[in-house]
Amino acid sequence: MHRSDNTAGPTGTCHRAFSVLVSLCIGGFLSACSGGDSSGGSSGGQGDVTAGTDAGFTVIVSDAPGSGFNDPTPAAPVGGNNATTVGEQRMAVIQEAARTWTSVLDIRVDIALDIRFADLECDRLSAVVGVTRPVSVFRDFRGAPTADTWYVSALANNLAGVDLEPNQNDIEVMFNRRIGGDDCLRGVSYYYGFDQNADFNQVDLLHIVLHELGHGLGFVSLIDPSTGALLSNLNDTFTRNLRDAEFTPYAQLSNAQRLAAITSQTLWGGAAVSAGMGTLDFGTVTVGGATAVPLFTPSSVDQGSSLSHWSAALEPNELMEPNTPVPGIRLLSALDMGSMLDIGWPLKDADQDGDGMPNEWEVLNGTDPRVADAGEDADGDTLSNAQELGFATAANRADSDGDQLSDADELQRYNTDPTKADTDADGIPDNLDR
Ligand SMILES: [Zn+2]
Repeated sequence: MHRSDNTAGPTGTCHRAFSVLVSLCIGGFLSACSGGDSSGGSSGGQGDVTAGTDAGFTVIVSDAPGSGFNDPTPAAPVGGNNATTVGEQRMAVIQEAARTWTSVLDIRVDIALDIRFADLECDRLSAVVGVTRPVSVFRDFRGAPTADTWYVSALANNLAGVDLEPNQNDIEVMFNRRIGGDDCLRGVSYYYGFDQNADFNQVDLLHIVLHELGHGLGFVSLIDPSTGALLSNLNDTFTRNLRDAEFTPYAQLSNAQRLAAITSQTLWGGAAVSAGMGTLDFGTVTVGGATAVPLFTPSSVDQGSSLSHWSAALEPNELMEPNTPVPGIRLLSALDMGSMLDIGWPLKDADQDGDGMPNEWEVLNGTDPRVADAGEDADGDTLSNAQELGFATAANRADSDGDQLSDADELQRYNTDPTKADTDADGIPDNLDR
């Protein structure tokens, strides 16, 4: 097993607010320091398993008494947050965000989340609101799905089924305590409600925490955006999904080619997002007949934002976009869940919209996990989405098995299996053999 420390100071992602616009950025960078231990899961942690179906986030507050998350200033209830002090309301937002991600991700090993308020970069017009650091990344641990590939520690632990490094935090997030001061977005304040109802001059902390946790969970590029170099010359599970404008996987590109893609066009090639992108109204890109969701790749590298976010053009607004008007972000969308699936997270067997179709099935079938759409017919083959689930056919392809007969025709006219192109396995496809 190899691990890599994130030793380059406050790194990972940061969340920048421009008055009413919130944008997100990446600070420093992971530095590589692979250990020599390649013996698989033999590293520490076996005795400290905190695995199980109830695993979630373990929150560690690093603020001094009386400040940040310990701020004792009385606070009135707001937007469903009924805690009675500023510090407790902030903590309640953290817990709400943790609950939200935990409701969809199958988290099996507790994630150690370290939080505090700190003096972050700020001026009158813009501010870094939050900085996230996935503390370390691992590869070639026992349970790693793909060899020679980096995984952020929260995901690596989950895949290994054990805390690979029990004495180390997994995700560290800092929030800017200067917001609203004379020299820092004067007049702007944090909003601690859970209802996405922040005023124009408020920064919705729940949105920020959800976004930052998304980075901490693995929605983060480990590529050095100034050189195009992979971390220790190895792929990572986020980068594995990236394609250049020709749909060439990033790992097959040279540093120079990656750098070109980082500053022009990069597309997400992962299967789950590709299936779920039909829930977008706007912002996908079609190149050479293929359609994909683009990443944020401004022409001059933004160390703070490039590559680790969706394109800012997506509509409706997605959680992992770099610039997001608040409110109005879709939470736990097909892209949120799809990107986590593509990165390697298992999803819970949950049904967010209560329409009888599990989240994962919805994402992979292009239906909307946020909308009760069981009665609709996404692919227009006359079978409802719910019927497609029942028949194990695809809701987003009228001809699931590609034998040129629609699912409905196979079921209702030809009595053939809509999931097998050659139902009777006689070597003749169903469309020629009915
Ligand atoms: Zn971000």
